Amino acid sequence: MVLLAEDDPAIADPLSRALQREGYDVRVVGDGPAALDATASDRVDLLVLDLGLPGMDGLEVCRRLRASGTEVPVLMLTARTDEVDFVVGLDAGADDYVAKPFRLAELLARIRALLRRRAPEVLEAGGVRMDLGARMVTVDLHEVQLANKEFELLRVLMSRAGQVVSRDEILAEVWNDLESKTSKTLDMHMSWLRRKLAIAADEAAGRTGKPGGNGDGERRIATVRGVGFRFNAE
Ligand code: CA
Repeated sequence: MVLLAEDDPAIADPLSRALQREGYDVRVVGDGPAALDATASDRVDLLVLDLGLPGMDGLEVCRRLRASGTEVPVLMLTARTDEVDFVVGLDAGADDYVAKPFRLAELLARIRALLRRRAPEVLEAGGVRMDLGARMVTVDLHEVQLANKEFELLRVLMSRAGQVVSRDEILAEVWNDLESKTSKTLDMHMSWLRRKLAIAADEAAGRTGKPGGNGDGERRIATVRGVGFRFNAE
């Protein structure tokens, strides 16, 4: 979802329509605090952030997002065109910057570029490699067949390898609202995923004659009690 934080309807409305035509889900908010709240609570892939917002300006919104560890790409919009704003915006943690008035086509191109940059084609950690384009997963070069939910589950965990991902975050990212999403469903898929990774590691170890393998699925994906799960990058 693209979050558009812009208080001027003359900019927000056409931009929102253009983004929807491009196939993005769009949510528009009109002030700084709402932009912060929406970024914290929704699944935001990109924030288009007006610098001059009521309540809290775009720079402060961006600083607070970065201070809280949020890595969502931020494209800053501003009516002011001097270089100082540009530098300050990047300093506050913005990824890109477009000055108003902008050409819609250029802004859309920058948005596409940021979203591409955000989605790496390959994730690799702890001997596991995910080719997202080919939807192919290998463990120590041994291919694993994963069902769709297992693949998405692994993608969420590996995209934040070494960090704990909460159960709520996993449920929100892997299961959409129309599907039943419960902790039990998550545990079931997690158990299948761990087993498949463990079997593949064992097979890879057997094939290369190396001892060990990974009979214990929790070595790669650790349960962090009361919080969530962590993919161990080793
Ligand atoms: Ca404004």
